[in-house]
Amino acid sequence: MSSRSALPLKKTASGQESPSGLLKAPLPPVNDSEGQYVPASLPFIVDAHVHFFPDHFFSAVWQWFDQFGWPIRYRLTSPEIIDFLLSRGVNHIVALHYAHKPGIARDLNAYMAKLSRSHPGITALATVFPGENNAAAILEDAFQSGLNGVKLHCHVQCFDMNSEHMDEIYQACTAHKKPLIMHVGREPKSPAYPCDPYVLCRADKLERVLRDYPNLNICVPHLGADEFDAYRRMLLKYDNLWLDTTMTLADYLPMDFFPELIKMRVDRIIFGTDFPNLPYAWDREIRRLIELKLPDTALEKILGKNALEFYSITCETVA
Ligand SMILES: [Zn+2]
Repeated sequence: MSSRSALPLKKTASGQESPSGLLKAPLPPVNDSEGQYVPASLPFIVDAHVHFFPDHFFSAVWQWFDQFGWPIRYRLTSPEIIDFLLSRGVNHIVALHYAHKPGIARDLNAYMAKLSRSHPGITALATVFPGENNAAAILEDAFQSGLNGVKLHCHVQCFDMNSEHMDEIYQACTAHKKPLIMHVGREPKSPAYPCDPYVLCRADKLERVLRDYPNLNICVPHLGADEFDAYRRMLLKYDNLWLDTTMTLADYLPMDFFPELIKMRVDRIIFGTDFPNLPYAWDREIRRLIELKLPDTALEKILGKNALEFYSITCETVA
């Protein structure tokens, strides 16, 4: 369970009390040792949550993390990230980015499209800033250019997932059969974000989207932190929901929770890491996943098969 009851509360604009979040102060580095290669005999590995940005964006992101999040251990450029993971035995990468303001998504999407063409081991996604002009056209052009889904981040983009601005995004994804990965769990919340994720993000708000768009496949990162139980239950109810494990296996965030993946719907759990924006070893979560001693079929699904299915990654793409 989460430790949210132990978090300090502060008043929101609406007068309600909201926890200050897991990132109320920057978290420390972890000097754990790292492996040179993924452990032997693992099935096909897709890291379905890897961040890519142009160099100057990465510098700004890392500066933010240094100040408000955690120290970044792997300050790598996009080509270096690809080389790092694939040379260590990760078989496929799903590349994510997000636009923190209107007017930049087209350039960022063009960057991602070029990146995805640079290596067959990468599936890259598009982004858009909810509510910006021509949002649907931005996504249609991105899909045309070969991008394979959409990533949104509520804490950075400050959108309400039930607002009318979101419909054109949901509709564009549905019409083009592209999946949507959106960080709409309310943690890890930082007071440095421009909006309060505890106001914008709630499991029942996502449930409304799942109901309204039954043909839209949605993945929520971090197992929906910190409404873990509500998300676990929604998996049982909605075939169009997936969750990724990013950072929840690492035992790093200050919460009293460790996922019991085997008690969840294992055909809907996707492995991801948040590489390179990590304070700990790149393979920490792979090793902890192995320690769970899941049945082979469950491990195979979580480590790779589910992501291949969610993103429609074909054998030709991964060959
Ligand atoms: Zn992330």
